[in-house]
Amino acid sequence: MSVKVTVCGTSGGYAGPGKACAGFLLSNEENTLMLDLGPGALSNMLEYLDADALEALALTHMHYDHYVDIFGLCTARRFWETSLAPFPVLAPAVARDIIGSPLAESSREEFFKCMELTVPEPGRAIELAGFEVTALPSAHVIDGFIYRIKAGESTVCYSGDTEKCDALIELARGADLFICESTFTSEVPARHKGHLSATEAGRIAAEAEVGSLLLTHLWPTLSGEKAVQEAGKQYNGPVELAFEGLTLFVGPYPCAV
Ligand SMILES: [Zn+2]
Repeated sequence: MSVKVTVCGTSGGYAGPGKACAGFLLSNEENTLMLDLGPGALSNMLEYLDADALEALALTHMHYDHYVDIFGLCTARRFWETSLAPFPVLAPAVARDIIGSPLAESSREEFFKCMELTVPEPGRAIELAGFEVTALPSAHVIDGFIYRIKAGESTVCYSGDTEKCDALIELARGADLFICESTFTSEVPARHKGHLSATEAGRIAAEAEVGSLLLTHLWPTLSGEKAVQEAGKQYNGPVELAFEGLTLFVGPYPCAV
């Protein structure tokens, strides 16, 4: 079974000009799953899918550039004319407190009726909207997860925000598509804790022997061309820079969706 990956947001840290922050829509003939939902990603997702048609959401961590459009998504679903069952949201344990914090006390209970929050158990594969999802803790500045998503024989790994760690190699191992953060290029010489450079993303892709590498989360002022070049020096497979509207098919082609 193929998986269609539609890029809804790619910008690292903040939404650059004409860009949105993290968001990747995975879909196949039967199911839909969103990975992260940063500022602007919902607007792009709605170009392809109605709010009530999204079956599940997996959040890597609770930095604002990866989750804030959950407010818009829940608002769209809550005000739908039909009453929808809560949709599953996979997220770190702090998600309820952080999502709840900007909400008025009086509206918090009603708001959370929209979703069913679950904390993934590290290393245990679960079924989420028809996809098999495995999470391991990332090495970021706050608690977070790296996800490996399987549908049939097709596998996607999404790094979220992380430094290099054993978990990232393990979950990326042999993935058909490795969506990896590369927040920096050599334009930023200083090492930044909790993130990867394009060179490091390329090295990890090579070590994990992935089928293809999709760079994302590039800081908006940095050169995408340089990011692809630098990753490509470390990894011999196909390397691409993610951009809003990019669609990739993972697995047997053609995919019916
Ligand atoms: Zn981020």
